[in-house]
Amino acid sequence: MDDGRNLAGARLLMFGPPGSGKGTQAAVLASRLGVPAISTGEMLRQAVAQGSDLGNKVETIMTSGALVDDETMAEVVRHRLAQKDTGNGFLLDGYPRTKGQARTLEQVLQDQDVHLDGVVFLDVPTEELVTRALARKRADDREEVIRERLRIYHSQTAPLLGYYRDLGLLRTVDGHQSIDKVTEAVLASLAEAA
Ligand code: ADP
Repeated sequence: MDDGRNLAGARLLMFGPPGSGKGTQAAVLASRLGVPAISTGEMLRQAVAQGSDLGNKVETIMTSGALVDDETMAEVVRHRLAQKDTGNGFLLDGYPRTKGQARTLEQVLQDQDVHLDGVVFLDVPTEELVTRALARKRADDREEVIRERLRIYHSQTAPLLGYYRDLGLLRTVDGHQSIDKVTEAVLASLAEAA
C-alpha cells in the first residue's frame, strides 16, 4: 500500500476459522477496494459442480471436511494468481491453510516480484461459528463435519497466525458483530497499517 489513503491495488489475505465470515467480507471488501476476490473454496465447489477432473478429485475430501492436498492447491492457486486481473491486487480467501501452502504462496508472489500487504484475521468465538455454519446448510455443513473442519483449522491453519504476526502483516478484527461493522473495522485496520 503506497500511503494511508490508498488501499487500491493491495494484496490481502482473509484469514479466519470456517464460518467466520471470510467469504462475505472478501466479496464486499474486494468491490470496495477494486480488486478480485479469490476464494479457493468457491473455486473447488465450482469444479465439483462442473464435474471437472479437479472437481472429481476433491469432492469426497471436501464433503468430509478434510483439506485438499497442498500440491493440488498449489496448482490451483499458481494458475489463478497468474491471471491478469490479479496484477493490480487481490483478496485471497481460504488460502493458505497450512504451512506448506504459506510457503507456496510466498514463492508464487516472489516469482512475480510482489509481496503481501496485509492479512486480516476475523476473530469469532467457536460456538458462534457452529451456529452460523448450521444455519448455512451447505453440503459440508453437517455438525460433525463442521466440528472436523474447526479441528483441522485449529491444528493446521491457526498456527499461521503467528507466522503472519511475526512478519508484521496481521490485522485482527472482531468478527462477532454485524456484517457492515466488520467491513468498516477491516477497512479501518488496513488504513491504520498502511
Ligand atoms: P470456509 O469458508 O467455510 O472455511 P471454504 O469455502 O473456504 O470454507 O472451503 C471449503 C472446503 O474446500 C474446505 O473444507 C476444504 O475441503 C476445501 N479447501 C478450500 N480451500 C482449501 C485449501 N487452501 N487447502 C485445502 N483445502 C481447501
